[in-house]
Amino acid sequence: MKIIMLGAPGAGKGTQAKMIADKYDIPHISTGDIFRANIKEGTPLGMEAKQYMDKGLLVPDELTVKILLDRVAKKDCQNGYVLDGFPRTIPQAEVLDKALGERGDRIDHAIDVDVPDENIVKRMGGRRACLSCGATYHIEHVPPKQEGICDVCGQKLVLRDDDKPETVQNRLNVYHEQTQPLIDFYRNKGILKTVDGTKDKEEVFETIEAVLKA
Ligand code: ADP
Ligand code: ADP
Ligand code: ZN
Repeated sequence: MKIIMLGAPGAGKGTQAKMIADKYDIPHISTGDIFRANIKEGTPLGMEAKQYMDKGLLVPDELTVKILLDRVAKKDCQNGYVLDGFPRTIPQAEVLDKALGERGDRIDHAIDVDVPDENIVKRMGGRRACLSCGATYHIEHVPPKQEGICDVCGQKLVLRDDDKPETVQNRLNVYHEQTQPLIDFYRNKGILKTVDGTKDKEEVFETIEAVLKA
């Protein structure tokens, strides 16, 4: 099963993608996590990506597409995967489609986690991220068992540089301009499913499970 998560920054794509990945035993692939891991390790890719990420801009398609295609070519992706944060532009979606099509393959479901901008701004300030394993928490809605510590791997949680309010607004603008058109792109392919992302995370997941079974 090959799944794409769509939705604004902070809509809960990563939270749901992890739950899907656990349940269906497929890899969760987040381009944002890949970039952050590279930034942490100080690789050339990380240094390049950081310049864009800190401003709330998208990393150029060329760079992003290569990383994603390399990742989905790995063996653990044979039975499917859930993509979180890719594609984010029409050209990215087209390249993915073409690469899959060349192997007689395709994306099965595109799930749009729908959350209005007002809720997003509130959520982002409370997000805390683990830069080691990619887990995310929320200080009120999804708190870790021990304050400031990742439940999964025990590392310290951080407020991401790009989750500061001035950058969040830029990211939302970029989302509406460059990423939201993907909703129609996948609707036209007949694989779009929209779920209400304002519900609590368990309820959102139940809706997604129903969609995947349908
Ligand atoms: P969020 O979870 O808030 O949506 P991500 O972790 O997915 O954020 O992405 C963080 C940043 O990484 C983005 O703002 C962008 O700069 C960069 N990025 C991640 N995925 C992509 C992509 N597919 N194309 C371009 N830039 C990306
Ligand atoms: P995305 O990957 O779309 O950027 P995340 O999964 O990181 O979004 O979620 C953004 C923030 O909102 C995090 O702090 C997360 O813990 C929190 N969150 C996720 N799902 C919900 C939900 N259903 N209700 C309230 N907060 C949520
Ligand atoms: Zn962790």
